[in-house]
Amino acid sequence: MRPEVLFPLFQSTDSLPGVGPRVATLIEKVAGKHVVDLCLHLPSGLIDRSYRPAVAHAEAGRIATLEVIVFEIRPGQGRRPARVIAGDDTGEIDLVFFHARGDWLEKQLPVGETRVISGMIERFQGRPQMAHPDYIAPPGDEDALPAHEPVYPMTAGLQPKTLRKAIAGALAKAPDLPEWLDPALMRERGWASWRDSLIRAHAPAASADIEPNHPARLRLAYDELLANQLALALIRRRRTTGAGRAFALSEARMAACMDALPFRLTPGQLQALSEILGDMKSGRRMQRLLQGDVGSGKTVVAFMAAVAAAEGGAQTALMAPTDVLARQHGRTLAGLGQRLGLAVAVLTGRDKGKARQATLMALAAGEIDILIGTHALFQDDVTFRDLGLIVVDEQHRFGVDQRMALAAKGLAPHLLSMTATPIPRTLMLTAYGDMDHVAIPDKPPGRQPITTTVTPIARMADVIDGLERAMARGERAYWICPLVEESEVSDLAAAEDRAAMLAARFGAKVALAHGQMKPKERDAAMAAFAAGDATLLVATTVVEVGVDVPEATIIVIEHAERFGLAQLHQLRGRVGRGDKASFCLLLRADGVSETAKQRLLAISATADGFKIAEEDLRLRGAGEVLGTRQSGLPQFRIADLDAQADLVALARRDVDLILARGAAGDDILAGDRGLALRALLYLFERDAAARYARTG
Ligand code: ADP
Ligand code: MG
Repeated sequence: MRPEVLFPLFQSTDSLPGVGPRVATLIEKVAGKHVVDLCLHLPSGLIDRSYRPAVAHAEAGRIATLEVIVFEIRPGQGRRPARVIAGDDTGEIDLVFFHARGDWLEKQLPVGETRVISGMIERFQGRPQMAHPDYIAPPGDEDALPAHEPVYPMTAGLQPKTLRKAIAGALAKAPDLPEWLDPALMRERGWASWRDSLIRAHAPAASADIEPNHPARLRLAYDELLANQLALALIRRRRTTGAGRAFALSEARMAACMDALPFRLTPGQLQALSEILGDMKSGRRMQRLLQGDVGSGKTVVAFMAAVAAAEGGAQTALMAPTDVLARQHGRTLAGLGQRLGLAVAVLTGRDKGKARQATLMALAAGEIDILIGTHALFQDDVTFRDLGLIVVDEQHRFGVDQRMALAAKGLAPHLLSMTATPIPRTLMLTAYGDMDHVAIPDKPPGRQPITTTVTPIARMADVIDGLERAMARGERAYWICPLVEESEVSDLAAAEDRAAMLAARFGAKVALAHGQMKPKERDAAMAAFAAGDATLLVATTVVEVGVDVPEATIIVIEHAERFGLAQLHQLRGRVGRGDKASFCLLLRADGVSETAKQRLLAISATADGFKIAEEDLRLRGAGEVLGTRQSGLPQFRIADLDAQADLVALARRDVDLILARGAAGDDILAGDRGLALRALLYLFERDAAARYARTG
């Protein structure tokens, strides 16, 4: 239950003075439904009204506060605005009003009286003027006219004044809350209480006050991050205390695997494998993210986990994001499986009728050990005899719901998620803090570095000549066609045109693969390329994830400036998989901006996926890097993951300490600070996590 102190904060905004149903709807768009949402809607700027020049000296383009005598009112006519002539002993100013109604002007600006006005100074035909002053007040009535005024993120139809008033009303309702922060931390950082920080953050008096490093903002951001970390930790603890099945890979089996593999595992693969096998035999349910740059060899690690599950008599589901990838995994793992006596099958949306039925029956009978598939795996009629392990490849392509749907098909199956998207540490903590993770930092030996160059598209002819020479040497190349924003159809047309052009030169060696092709044809194209019957594969981004043809040594990416950095890195990872030197040629449009050029140079300068991800994060923001929608990435209202990244790690450490104090069976959120932390969770609507605070 939500703590009672928070009740005033969770009233709806229409309980505030000046907020009716219409305004409440607008406020909901920009902030949220509740009073607390307004409290946490922090200013994005401020208006400084402290500039108080004499009329003659008022600079155009600035907000000024002037003390003037009203000389004359000239009513408007038709579309002509009303003008009020006012001034002081240095000069005159015209106050301009459109659609002034009735005697409103006479009341606000009585002729002969002094008024303080504040607004934007303009100059019109040499005369200073001010259209619709923001404030008109009798002298001495300074309250009505703040020297500094917060500016809030807005939405169309909502008046700044209305929003400011609503926020002031919300702040008036904000109670003192029990302190959840460690007093030592507050002292060290010079942070005030929640309420004081909130009020301070809403009352900026200088531009420094709206910077993310202002103490009031830092404190509020820290609260948000602490709530996030605490919630993730509670969820994770509840899950890992949940029982899982113990699967162990025997030494004999392990040795058989090593024999079956055509290569030796890298130290990184061995390390990841040992963590994963450790999870699987621990008796707790595994929930682990395996991170490894493209080509680091994650698939085989997942395969060994599946061997462990099979040794315990359980089945494994391997989910791949595309049909192409599922079939590729199918081919690789079928061979390995055969050597180890494991049955591997593939099931995608393309399998229909009798073939599908046969697979489903074999699956239900336990005759399939490893089932590889796409979204088709979580259809209702897919029944495992005993699903013990779920592997999600390229996990950011799947939603949380989809993972859960699959998990429901087994008895608390272990979960291994894999991603080649390097996740910067900050995002790792905030988005995946509920998972364990392990990375494969190295790559199989003998890989040649990929040389990346940026070339203007005008020099395409040279690039094609180069391709011809390479193909004459027996090398294979990808040609990635540009993303076209307007429609997928033109995307396709571009690829088809390019394929036709290249086929005119290279003939039957050219294959085409794109997303709208019949799956059979696309597979045929990919297979021809993998087998070397085709040596140039023209494709859209269908090859982006996971496709593995070690003989390919060149990738040309047309209009590289239209791709995200991480995506370029993924695409580039299609080459450099064999033992020959590889090349990535980024073709850029002629007129691209300097920033676009910089981005492309950045990617050509480094092969380090993490650096690229950090750069991508900097350029695009957190939400886009992982695709907020799919990944369930939390959106922070206050915390700024770029500017306040250090707070994330701090919050994580804080949470570790908090959890370490609670003994098993205790309510972790007991005691004074515990109760305060519980309020914090509810404040940020992590209600579910708060309920997990009691251990089983
Ligand atoms: P990713 O991590 O991108 O999914 P894959 O699992 O597809 O990478 O592996 C990339 C390629 O490297 C595959 O051809 C795979 O067979 C090969 N590979 C994996 N591990 C090793 C290793 N230890 N030594 C040599 N080649 C390996
Ligand atoms: Mg892969």
